[in-house]
Amino acid sequence: MRIAADPYTELRNRLFEAELLFSTGVDGLYGRSDTYQGIADAVDHLMHRWGHDVGATVVHLPPLIARSTFDSTDYIRSFPDLVGSVHVFNGGDRDHVELVRRVSAGGDWPALLEPGEIVLSPAACYSLYPMCAGRLPAGGRYFEVSGYCFRHEPSTDPTRMQAFKMHEIVYVGEPDTAQRHRDDSLARGLSILTDIGLDVTATPANDPFFGRLGAALAAGQLDEGLKFEGVTAICSDDRPTAVMSANCHRDHFGAPFGIETATGAVAHSACVGFGVDRITIALLVRHGLDPSTWPGPVRARLFS
Ligand code: ATP
Ligand code: ZN
Repeated sequence: MRIAADPYTELRNRLFEAELLFSTGVDGLYGRSDTYQGIADAVDHLMHRWGHDVGATVVHLPPLIARSTFDSTDYIRSFPDLVGSVHVFNGGDRDHVELVRRVSAGGDWPALLEPGEIVLSPAACYSLYPMCAGRLPAGGRYFEVSGYCFRHEPSTDPTRMQAFKMHEIVYVGEPDTAQRHRDDSLARGLSILTDIGLDVTATPANDPFFGRLGAALAAGQLDEGLKFEGVTAICSDDRPTAVMSANCHRDHFGAPFGIETATGAVAHSACVGFGVDRITIALLVRHGLDPSTWPGPVRARLFS
């Protein structure tokens, strides 16, 4: 008798069986089919139209971030459990012989590597801030940033990946405009997702801060209303999944990265981030695993 899997594993099995996602043997690390990627690209394109509307500068980012940038974001203080670091081989011939020996013998070969100058990027917008250092033009700037992100949160829930695509519209500049960007973006994001047939609602949220100190940080973030998520039921009605978040950073990035408004004040920033993979999977669950059968208006919005 087949024992029923939990709804997360069940959904992942369906996506594997339909060959929309391909297993790599590691939870949260998947290959994408052409059909899946076509949907993800269409979702990216919805955000791209938005970026174009607000005159955003488009920056496509690699899945890696400079270690120096990463250090300035203070990510390690809040989310040490999610971090991934790139280590490289700087040794000579003798070290190489030992490296190969350890690989063959199943030994601890990573111990022979050293930290490189890059870290896996946990959020698309982080690489942007050092690019904004210095004086901004009057009115600030909008950016559209996208790229793969890494978070070490292995899971059988196919919507909780270790490597996933994030697409963001970011504002850097005046405090009032940053706050407004966060609020307007939440509304606009919800409307874009509703238009493609997803039942999404806004909810106050907090980041998954680590440890005992983290509980206080999470409570503070909730209290101050700094983060809102757009959530939709994918595997569970009781525990809906966040497909987007709208965040007010205040001067969290402006201060360490030396970003100034046109009048020389510390710049504020705000971003709306879309989980492209989660939206793709939500669409597959909502409308069926074959996009050629999706409702006409949804197809028109996404694919034309
Ligand atoms: P969650 O609360 O679900 O862990 P988060 O608050 O950590 O999400 P954000 O940091 O706000 O997420 O990231 C922006 C968006 O990126 C999220 O709304 C989500 O859609 C997507 N995202 C975050 N983590 C993952 C993941 N592990 N796999 C796929 N998408 C993700
Ligand atoms: Zn962001």
